Amino acid sequence: VYVHFPWCVRKCPYCDFLSVASDRADIPQRQYADSLIAELERRTAELGERVLTSIYIGGGTPSLFDPGELARVLSAVRRTFASCLEPLEVTLECNPNSFDNGRVWLDTGVNRVSIGVQSLDDDMLRMLGRLHDRAEALGSLRHAIESGFSRVSADLLFGLPDEQPAQAAAHARAVAELGVGHVSAYNLTIEPGTPFGDAAQEGRLVVPDDVLVAETYDAVRDALAALGFEHYEVSNYSLPGQRSRHNMGYWLGHDYLGLGCGAYGTVSQATSAVRYRNTSDVRRYLDHEGWRSTRLDTEGPLVASVEELDAETLLRERLMLGLRLADGFDIERVERELGIGFWTKEREQAADKLARRGDLEREGSSLRIPEAQRIFTDGISRTLM
Ligand code: SF4
Repeated sequence: VYVHFPWCVRKCPYCDFLSVASDRADIPQRQYADSLIAELERRTAELGERVLTSIYIGGGTPSLFDPGELARVLSAVRRTFASCLEPLEVTLECNPNSFDNGRVWLDTGVNRVSIGVQSLDDDMLRMLGRLHDRAEALGSLRHAIESGFSRVSADLLFGLPDEQPAQAAAHARAVAELGVGHVSAYNLTIEPGTPFGDAAQEGRLVVPDDVLVAETYDAVRDALAALGFEHYEVSNYSLPGQRSRHNMGYWLGHDYLGLGCGAYGTVSQATSAVRYRNTSDVRRYLDHEGWRSTRLDTEGPLVASVEELDAETLLRERLMLGLRLADGFDIERVERELGIGFWTKEREQAADKLARRGDLEREGSSLRIPEAQRIFTDGISRTLM
């Protein structure tokens, strides 16, 4: 289950996630929780029997959620699923400046936190429009660990204007040495329609070229590998036993129920699936009475889109996501689950060519991208589509 919380204190200039800037006091906490619960009940009424494996509260800035209201939502989710994989992984995304009482969050049922550090350089944090500085970022990680969270993840951005590989590597090393068990490190992408997108178009913002970004990626990976972190996905690193179960579910193509304003969900039915997206209009989403009677199989005021995905589309998606993993893409498993064959003449030829170039490894029923080529994952997967 993914729960979206669509508010932030201020909008970061590079962000194109669905979030609305708001004072904490103005967020309609109770009404939002009511709508989440109404949506949960409506969607699960037609779901059939499922095993709940993880809950992820993302945003936005979910650490602005009133802990009492979040606890109400979490216990409704747990109550709804007769079968849960225990201990259930429950992750809360947090920003350093709004994560101040770890024990309160533990009491809500959250047992894993993912903290948006992004950088440990104060000038870069200011440039990114973040509301915290290095000291606050490190303090929030320390606070999470000392509060008793056994699973703490740090989010980092690299490839920032004027950033050198050694700086990004030092940031990764610093958070790892502090005791987190998981690091996500993403390349800053310039999204059109954001203030950074406009600035880049007008030449006011210059990001490092591809060669420097690749060097930075390698430097971050090497720094974390030296500290025992497994590079288990293109942008994710973990100590043993600390992989994100929730995100592994996305990469392996598991179903997920998305709840909340603007949330996506994917629910399979035999060898096809339905992907839906909720309205991104917060006021509309707050109509919790509407949720009780809304139709889920077609667009309406609360459901922005409903799309049927056939087996071939799902296979391509699984290939693209599976190749992001160090474990690779398991052909037999996907063929069994989707009821179609993977190999076509074109795919055979493309895979042979990639293997000859050292871009792809075939082992039994697995396809894997070698570590050194992982940064080219998107291009390599496209060749196999
Ligand atoms: S805090 Fe996160 S979700 Fe909110 S605006 Fe910044 S990057 Fe976007």
